Amino acid sequence: MKNTLRVHEIYRSIQGESTWAGLPCIFIRLTGCPLRCSYCDTAYAFRGGETMTLEAILEKVAELADGGGEWTATDASSSRLPLIELTGGEPLAQAAAVPLMQALVDTGFTVLIETSGSMDTGDVPPAVRVILDIKCPSSGEAEKCLVSNIRRLRPTDEVKFVVATREDLEFMEKSIREHDLSARCQVLVSWASPLMDSQFDPSLKRVPESMNPVSRREVVDFLLDRRIPARFQLQMHKFIWPPDQKGV
Ligand code: SF4
Repeated sequence: MKNTLRVHEIYRSIQGESTWAGLPCIFIRLTGCPLRCSYCDTAYAFRGGETMTLEAILEKVAELADGGGEWTATDASSSRLPLIELTGGEPLAQAAAVPLMQALVDTGFTVLIETSGSMDTGDVPPAVRVILDIKCPSSGEAEKCLVSNIRRLRPTDEVKFVVATREDLEFMEKSIREHDLSARCQVLVSWASPLMDSQFDPSLKRVPESMNPVSRREVVDFLLDRRIPARFQLQMHKFIWPPDQKGV
């Protein structure tokens, strides 16, 4: 069983977030997540997918990276795409994600993993760049954060706060200052886009009514007013394709 993973989709797109935004990237989206964040836009990956061996995953990745699939000879087919991201769902919820990451590193890829912060990152291979979510109060999952993951952050890693309310902004500022995050790695801030009906899953947590929603503009104003050295980001793929489109 250690040699297999439940995979929702493997596809080629551009990286929509992080300091890697805009670059071509191959995404391996693994099935399943133990959390139920209020703003989750990938609830479709909570279930389904197919069981694949590491070898089959590596083969699919190589096909996409080398210009296979639907690309034509006029594309840069002689050059291999170097960037891979493991995402989900929660990729670290499956043990075989670790040997998969190591195999991708050994093959020469730059490997990112996007993780919720609720699973121990201690076994992530050193060459892999961790993009660690620190869940804010409106997500409904803030208490699941493992502080050990925050302590383990390296300069090549990135942390991400997804904010939706005034309470999230205050929590974010406190976390950044308490853990000296801006001095230790890149800090990313995203606004939680409201879900479309097609993205909503009834199992998601609800934002408490006592919280105060903020707009994108208010997030940026807060960062400027408080002089927080964090990188505000928009999810680029949602501007290129419909926000609920899968596989992009
Ligand atoms: S960690 Fe939250 S946002 Fe990420 S897949 Fe799980 S429920 Fe969705």
